[in-house]
Amino acid sequence: MSDFTKTRAMFDIPEGMTYLNGNSLGPMPKASPEAMMNFLNNEWRTELIKGWNTKGWFMQPNTLGDRIGKLVGAPEGTIVVSDTLSIKVFQAVGAGLALVPDRKVVLSDTGNFPTDLYMVQGLLKLKEDGFELRTVAPEAVIDAITDEVAVITLTEVDYRTGRKHDMKAIIDKAHSVGAVVVWDLAHSAGAIPVDLAGTDVDFAVGCTYKFLNAGPGGPAFIYVAPRLIETVEPVLSGWYGHEAPFAFDTDYRPMPGKIDRMRIGTPSIASFAILEAALDVWEGVDLNDVRTRSIELMELFIKEVEARCPGVTLTGPRDMNERGSHVSFKFEHGYPCMQALISRKVIGDFRAPDMMRFGITPLFVDEADILRAVDELEDILKTEAYKEERFNIRSAVT
Ligand SMILES: *Cc1c(COP(=O)(O)O)cnc(C)c1O
Repeated sequence: MSDFTKTRAMFDIPEGMTYLNGNSLGPMPKASPEAMMNFLNNEWRTELIKGWNTKGWFMQPNTLGDRIGKLVGAPEGTIVVSDTLSIKVFQAVGAGLALVPDRKVVLSDTGNFPTDLYMVQGLLKLKEDGFELRTVAPEAVIDAITDEVAVITLTEVDYRTGRKHDMKAIIDKAHSVGAVVVWDLAHSAGAIPVDLAGTDVDFAVGCTYKFLNAGPGGPAFIYVAPRLIETVEPVLSGWYGHEAPFAFDTDYRPMPGKIDRMRIGTPSIASFAILEAALDVWEGVDLNDVRTRSIELMELFIKEVEARCPGVTLTGPRDMNERGSHVSFKFEHGYPCMQALISRKVIGDFRAPDMMRFGITPLFVDEADILRAVDELEDILKTEAYKEERFNIRSAVT
């Protein structure tokens, strides 16, 4: 049984703050500063260039990938960590297209996170004419999977509404027509149980700075099914994925038979130090317990808001089994209302045009946080505090 009192104590959340934004940027584990200082003082400073061997930096994309694999049902040797999620989307969709060379349609949904769509648009510009990104409503994806489609690229949990796709159903349909699927786990990894091997996923990508708490700009990861690793096209053919990087050949040859071929170039080793410490928090935590707790907290939150906060309406599914681990409410004055909440140390965020979004992260959020958030929201609505001018000034990041 996971001990959430223990995990909560492992985070350094500022006094008096209720942090409901771990779905966007996880809070800092107490172990992060020491991990960073240790890297600086005992690795970079003392080892310098030797650190690639003596401190295992060179293989950290793989060793960290194996640790993340435990949280998403991936066997060892199927995930590497590095780069950004946007880059990993490009790489995975490109690799998917290379596996189905006779087709030209990439299918996605209109609820997908924009960068995922942008990266596909950029990728298709590099291809010859006739390639197409087709987007349909999330509910229409399953019927849009036809034998025209090469790659389906979806984010499992919608970043705005929290709606969760039926991963298994989509994969089965895709495979029945010979298409491959790229899953973006940005709002799944560390949020809900994921079984990449068990559901026969082809490709998955994700980031570590949301539910995995590896800090702003923490590295991304990519998963490739074991059955594809032998043949998969790396697409971004960098020297870190080469068969023999230190042979310095002028011709690219992907690392045979290993996930290493999806590596690209020199990773941010400093960010790996923080990621290592963030993953320690997950030792002894069962994602099924996280899921159970998350559902309890989401149900409490929704019930209280609906009872006490008129004018604020839930978006996304009511059935918690069809939801990830965040809750968004539509409200006409959503932006200033969220600013008012933040000024009272209840931290969520805002997603245009009108959604107040709250991440429910049981590692460090409990009932008292939920009730405090609703108390403040109720008061802000009652006093119309959101009308204050200072809450109506838009920042660059919402
Ligand atoms: C957060 C998020 C991203 C962000 O991509 P970066 O390259 O890390 O900026 C991409 N896709 C989805 C679905 C996300 O939720």
